[in-house]
Amino acid sequence: MKRQVSLLITGARQLVTVPPPPGGGPKCGEEMGRLGVIEEGALAIEGAEIVAAGPSREIRAAFAPGPEGLEIDARDCVVLPAFVDPHTHVLFAGTREWEFQLRLEGISYMEIAARGGGIRSSVRMFREAEDASILAESLERLDRMVAYGAGTVEIKTGYALDPEGELRALRLIAELDRRHPVTVVPTYLGAHEIPDEYRGDVEAYVRLLTERMIPEAAALGVARCCDVFCEQGVFSVEQSRRILKAGQRAGLAAKLHADEIEPLGGAELAAELGAVSADHLGRVSPKGIAAMAAARVVAVLLPGTLFSLGRREYAPARAMIAAGVPVALATDCNPGSSMTDAMPWIIALGCLAMQMTPGEAITAATYNAAAALALEARCGSLTPGYRADLQIIAAPSYARLPYHVGSSDLRDLVLGGVPWIRDARPGALRL
Ligand SMILES: [Zn+2]
Repeated sequence: MKRQVSLLITGARQLVTVPPPPGGGPKCGEEMGRLGVIEEGALAIEGAEIVAAGPSREIRAAFAPGPEGLEIDARDCVVLPAFVDPHTHVLFAGTREWEFQLRLEGISYMEIAARGGGIRSSVRMFREAEDASILAESLERLDRMVAYGAGTVEIKTGYALDPEGELRALRLIAELDRRHPVTVVPTYLGAHEIPDEYRGDVEAYVRLLTERMIPEAAALGVARCCDVFCEQGVFSVEQSRRILKAGQRAGLAAKLHADEIEPLGGAELAAELGAVSADHLGRVSPKGIAAMAAARVVAVLLPGTLFSLGRREYAPARAMIAAGVPVALATDCNPGSSMTDAMPWIIALGCLAMQMTPGEAITAATYNAAAALALEARCGSLTPGYRADLQIIAAPSYARLPYHVGSSDLRDLVLGGVPWIRDARPGALRL
């Protein structure tokens, strides 16, 4: 007697399961390249959960779609976990094309800032915008991310920079999660930048954050992590430590924007605090790499940002993987330095700019990205017990992802066991 399930996916040329490593936790070193590929593979899904993964003939022998169930034929396709995008600023109000254009015309960042540009212009627009318009444009961005294969998206606050506005941002992020099938993971980033009102007294803003803003944010019960921009001219290592400790006292896990432009020691701080991730790391030091490896802090690399800023030096992904640092990839989707919603493009940059293998880059965009949100026991893998978030791409091999640069071969997308995108192949334009 076959067991009835709500969804069967059968006949995949490659079923890419991205299995957790023995003992769980993030995948490090050679484990990053182990994708657990099953040729002619199939999945059985009941409700929102994967119940079995294996060769098609075994799965077909044991399972059948129930009366309301569905079978999707994945022949000539690759089935892999939906992407987890573990670092984004998707909740923003208005874009900054004018500033992008000035930058390409050779106007310096300082001059653009003096003309009212930079992150502070996003803060101004966010403070002035209505909830409904912020939600509408952010939902549209999530639609695009999902069309490129995302199933889980982390979203940070950080464009209000005042107590009430940052709580409003958390409520809006929670509302995005309610309104969109993608899983949204909220992060509190009241320490994204120094607000204009505190330019002359950064310490006063750090006190406001640690004594009031962070405890209030944690009490709202929406955010899972507390993040800080630890960089020259923003928050120092010492200030970042106090901010993240205030978050940890309130029950929020620590994350950092670290060592992006200067090797300040953000990676070492992440290791010291047992942070779940340190992100950016364009200029991480060898000492920082060793500290992160020892503490198993996930490195979230954001090559789209360095590319969009016109820089030629990327984070040392190979050195990190060799040292045993678990590496993840993210879009850093934001209106200033990385206006992209496409994880496949980030995977291509991981391979072509940072010399990751396609297998490592896929682990970095799925299982290890989930680990950067402490969700690696729940999503980012096609293993029984995991959430059924998966994508079906029309390609003979998973290497298509970085090979087909900046494009998408997504055919179907399933989130929580529900097919949200069906048969999205090109062809509709032909007569
Ligand atoms: Zn960021």
